[in-house]
Amino acid sequence: KLSNRLQQILDQIPEGSRMADIGSDHALLPVAAIRSGKAVSAIAGEVNPGPYDAASKQVSDAGLKTQITVHRGDGLDVITAGEVDVITIAGMGGALIASILDRGISKLEGVQLLILQPNVGEDILRRWLLQHHWVVVAEKLLEEDGKIYEIITAMPEDGSPITNEEVYRARPLQGEVELTEDLLLRMGPYLVDRATDVFFSKWESEILKLESVVQSISKSDQDSSRDKAAEVEQLITSLKEVL
Ligand code: SAM
Repeated sequence: KLSNRLQQILDQIPEGSRMADIGSDHALLPVAAIRSGKAVSAIAGEVNPGPYDAASKQVSDAGLKTQITVHRGDGLDVITAGEVDVITIAGMGGALIASILDRGISKLEGVQLLILQPNVGEDILRRWLLQHHWVVVAEKLLEEDGKIYEIITAMPEDGSPITNEEVYRARPLQGEVELTEDLLLRMGPYLVDRATDVFFSKWESEILKLESVVQSISKSDQDSSRDKAAEVEQLITSLKEVL
């Protein structure tokens, strides 16, 4: 049975897709996507030998070698342009996902959907998407085994029902508080509007982390560290206002 996290990623894949799952590890997602009919073909990409072997074995044991190709390679090197409609990249940091997309940008031609699940650094990934004309069309937030995960789904600007300008338009919250583009990139333009218990617990723990950052850097007597501490303090104030 798939984890709730992988199931929610699977739910985002349109029926009949040609997909690539980058950093597929045991290829659980492509196998489930083929079995459920969500995908008609899949590529499982893995850069590391152990996970590559695990993916190959899983696909072979499932009897799905005709539908799923397992490739060893870095990021989007394992696909050719036009070969897939949907790319999933899950379980890595947002900065790594953004760098995989950046290095493989020519392979994104023709891709209709990116389904991304960063473990940290969601803001870095949203910024990359915004700067490269991908529009976030859906976001999910879930908790599993004590960890909180975000799933970010994006479409190319020219195929999207909504523009980036609309998604990240600064808007008033209650009272004086304004949700700026920066806060929307950090907190998630959709997640912020449906503030669930998981959303609050995520941001309460993020604030605690930021407070300990301020504590440690404000001890430094360098001007640059003090500037940084002031900047993080400002961010904490803004985040608390939103919550
Ligand atoms: N996607 C699966 C999931 O969400 O359950 C596996 C996540 S696992 C934590 C991350 C996987 O990404 C590892 O198997 C690692 O080998 C692979 N990986 C890391 N960097 C990669 C890259 N540049 N290209 C392809 N795979 C990569």
